[in-house]
Amino acid sequence: MKHFSTLKKYFFQYKYPILIGIIFVILSNIFKVVAAPLIRNTISEINLFLTNHSNATLYDFYPILLKFLGFYAFFAILSAIFTFLMRQTIIVVSRKIEFDLKNELFQQYQKLDLSFYKKNYTGDLMSRITEDVSRVREFVGPTIMYSVNLVAMFAICIPIMFMIHWKLALISLLPLPILSISIYLINNTINKNSLILQQKLAKLNSIAQEVFSGIRIVKSFVKEKTFQENFTIEAEAYKEQAIKIGRINAFYQPFFVGIVSLSILIIVYFGGEFVLKKEINIEHLVEFIFYINFLTWPVSALGWVATMTQRAAASMERINDFLNLKPAIIPGHGIPHKIQGNIVFDKVSLVYEDTGIRALDNISFNIPQGEKWAIIGRTGSGKSTIAELITAIYKPTEGKILIDNTDYTEFEVGQYRSQIGYVPQDVFLFSDTIFNNISFGVEQASLEKVKEAAKQAGIDEEIQKLPMGYDTVIGERGVTLSGGQKQRISIARAILLRPSIIVLDDCLSAVDVTTENLIVEALNHLFKNRTSITITHRIFNQLNFDHILVLDEGRIIESGTHEYLLGLNGMYTQLYHKQVKEAVA
Ligand code: ATP
Ligand code: MG
Repeated sequence: MKHFSTLKKYFFQYKYPILIGIIFVILSNIFKVVAAPLIRNTISEINLFLTNHSNATLYDFYPILLKFLGFYAFFAILSAIFTFLMRQTIIVVSRKIEFDLKNELFQQYQKLDLSFYKKNYTGDLMSRITEDVSRVREFVGPTIMYSVNLVAMFAICIPIMFMIHWKLALISLLPLPILSISIYLINNTINKNSLILQQKLAKLNSIAQEVFSGIRIVKSFVKEKTFQENFTIEAEAYKEQAIKIGRINAFYQPFFVGIVSLSILIIVYFGGEFVLKKEINIEHLVEFIFYINFLTWPVSALGWVATMTQRAAASMERINDFLNLKPAIIPGHGIPHKIQGNIVFDKVSLVYEDTGIRALDNISFNIPQGEKWAIIGRTGSGKSTIAELITAIYKPTEGKILIDNTDYTEFEVGQYRSQIGYVPQDVFLFSDTIFNNISFGVEQASLEKVKEAAKQAGIDEEIQKLPMGYDTVIGERGVTLSGGQKQRISIARAILLRPSIIVLDDCLSAVDVTTENLIVEALNHLFKNRTSITITHRIFNQLNFDHILVLDEGRIIESGTHEYLLGLNGMYTQLYHKQVKEAVA
C-alpha cells in the first residue's frame, strides 16, 4: 500500500468529487436495496387480500401489482440515475488522475539524464507511461468504486438480514467468502496469464516493427522468409496463450453462477424449514433471496478488487522507480549566465556508468573566448564525449569544466544549453517540415532567418528544389533526405540559434571534402567572435584552426597548430599523410 503514497496529492486535489462520488454510490445502493422490502410488502398485501377475499380473480390484484410496479420502477430509475452519477464522478476523477500522472511521468522523463535512456529500453519507458498508468487508473476508479459499493451494500443488507433471522443470515452468507476467494484466485491466474500474453504481444510487435524499419536490408538480403517464419512462431505462441486465457474465462461464468445458485439453494432449503417451523414467513424468505442476490456482485467484485489492487501496486512501484530518480543535472536550479565563450577543462575524466568505460582520462585544455578549435582522433577516442560534456548532457566524473571561469554546474542548465549550438554526430530530424526542423531551437523564427541559416549551412538551394520547399515534410511521413542533406539541416538548426559556443561533432562526414571545407570556412567566418569546436576525422590543411587537439584512448596525445603538429611527426602527421595519399588516389 505504501507505493500508492504518490497518489495522495491527487486524492487530495480531487477530494470533493471523490466524496460526492462516494455519496452517490451509497445512494444508488440504497435505492437498489429498497426493492427487497417492497417485494416483501407486496407479498404480504397479496396474502392479506387472499385471506379476506377467498374468491378473488386476477383482476382484483391489479391495484396491488400496479402499485408495486410503480414504486419498483421509481426506485430503479433513481438507482440508475445515481449509478450514472457515481460513474460520472469517480470514473472521471480516475481519468483526470491518469492524465496528471502521465504528465508527471513524462515531465520526469524529460528531466532525466541521457544515461537514464541508455540504461532503460524505450519499450519499458513507453509501457510505464501507458500500461502501468492505466492500471493505476483502474485502481483509482473502478477499484475504489467497487470497494465503496461493497462496504455500502454490506452495511445496508447484513444488519437487515440478521434482524429478520440471524440463523438463516449466517447460513446464507456462508458461501460468499468462498465466492470471493475463488474469484480472487481465478482472477490472479487470468492476470498472470495476461501478463505472459502481453509479453508475447510485445515480442510479436517488435518483430514486425523491426522488419518495417529495416525493410531495405530485409529485402536486399532476401530475408523475408526468415522473418515470416519468426513471425509465425511468435504468432503461434501468442495464439496458444490467448486460447488458454479463453479457457479460464469460459470456466469463470458457470462457476460464478454455480456458487450463487448454491447459496440460493441453501436459503431455500434451510429457509423452507424455518418457514415450516413458523420461525419466519414466506415473504421474508423471498426478501432474503433478494439480499443475497444484491450481495453476490459486490462480493465477487472483492476478488477482482484484490487482484486489481495488487496489479496496481506493482505498477505504481514501477512508476515510482522512475519518479524517484534524481537527474544529475537539475533544470531550473542554478544561476543564469550569459556565456562569453571561454572553455576550460580541468583534469576532466568521464567514466560511463553503465559500461564502466573510461572515455576521457585526465583531460585539460583552455579555449580562449572566440577561438576556433578542432578535435581529431581515431574512432572511440572520446571526441563525442567531449562534445557531450560541453553541452552538459553528461557531467564529468572527475575534474571540473569552467565556462568563463565558473564551474558550469552552477549555471541554470536549460539557459546554459540554449546558448550552445550543438550539432550531434547522429543527426536527428523530426517527422515534420524542414522549416520546423531548422527553427526547432528558436521560438517564432521568420522564414527569412531560416533561409539565411540554411544558406550558411549550404543547403538552401537543395531545399528550394524540393516540391514544397521549406514546407516539405521529412522523415517517416514524407520525403527521405540524403545523409549529407540531413547533416546540413541539422547545422542550419544550430546556426539559427546564434549560439555563444558552437560544437560540430563530425557533422559533415556525409558531404564531400570541398563542400565540407566551404561550410566550415563559412561557419568560422560567421562565428568570428564566438568559440567553436569542430570534431572531425579529416584534416583541413587550408583552414586555420587556432588549435588542434589530437585524442587517443581518452587522452590528449598531441596539441597545437597545424604546422606545429606536422613538425611533431607523430600521429597527426601520420593521419595527414594518409589522407593526402587517399585524396590523390
Ligand atoms: P567516433 O569517431 O567513432 O565518433 P568518438 O571519438 O566520438 O568516436 P566517443 O563516442 O566519445 O568516441 O566514445 C568514447 C568511448 O566511450 C568509446 O569506447 C565508447 O564505446 C564509449 N561510449 C561512448 N558513449 C557511451 C555511452 N553513452 N555509454 C557508454 N559508453 C559510451
Ligand atoms: Mg563520435
